[in-house]
Amino acid sequence: MDAKPRLAVHKFSSCDGCQLAFLNQGAELLQLATLVEIVHFAQAGFVAPDATVDMAFVEGSISTPEDEKRIRLVRKNSRYLVAIGACATAGGLQALRNRAPGGAGWIAEIYPQPGHIHALPASTAVSAHVPVDAELWGCPVNGRQVLDAVRGRLFGVTPVVETDKVCLECKRQQGVCVLVAHGAPCMGPVTRTGCGALCPRLHRDCYACYGPAENANTQALGRRLADLGLSPAAIARRFLSINNAATAFRDAGDRWQEEDHGDA
Ligand code: SF4
Ligand code: SF4
Repeated sequence: MDAKPRLAVHKFSSCDGCQLAFLNQGAELLQLATLVEIVHFAQAGFVAPDATVDMAFVEGSISTPEDEKRIRLVRKNSRYLVAIGACATAGGLQALRNRAPGGAGWIAEIYPQPGHIHALPASTAVSAHVPVDAELWGCPVNGRQVLDAVRGRLFGVTPVVETDKVCLECKRQQGVCVLVAHGAPCMGPVTRTGCGALCPRLHRDCYACYGPAENANTQALGRRLADLGLSPAAIARRFLSINNAATAFRDAGDRWQEEDHGDA
């Protein structure tokens, strides 16, 4: 019998939430373990970080010199590499530090011994350092998408990367629009789907954790948020959140920050 494909899940600078999304698949994950050999997944108890594998999932941004060195090794050891979650696909929340005025001066304001902090000048996506075969967005990534990517790969199929807007999924789920009906500052019109429109279905506005959708009209949504009464600073914060370093959101956030004249 042929050997089972070998799989690894690597953590970089991150909160572990995307690995949990994997683990939370429960019975389905156990079933998957009959099809692949999990050789490295520290959170599940498998530790072999330098192993050569057929498929590697990478969680986390590249934020330290150690991360930078290790991601090159992971790439070299992996036939197929998938970046999972907002940190790995866009630098994550921690990329906000890239925008700090005065460079890394903030480190000394937070840490009593800044000399112990060894960070790169910026937190960046995995794709800024090595070629990536697929990206699954979200904070955290959706466990269903991850398992679909593994199953697809087993059959030689490229994972389906969803790029539609959350609004489309929201309407498919017959949700009442919280932006239109309740005037909530929903980011669904510019955010990529994949979560099943989780927040609007619970009557809450989307805060864009899946990053920019394809052809996101950030200008129109920004104007709509202004009409709702949000200040330029508040609109900038809507864009400059979990996916602040994703190009469409970064550019929109920059524009609204320029509009901000200190009116909160
Ligand atoms: S609630 Fe949000 S995601 Fe749903 S249709 Fe309205 S704007 Fe779009
Ligand atoms: S609705 Fe928006 S904020 Fe909520 S899970 Fe989906 S993408 Fe994330």
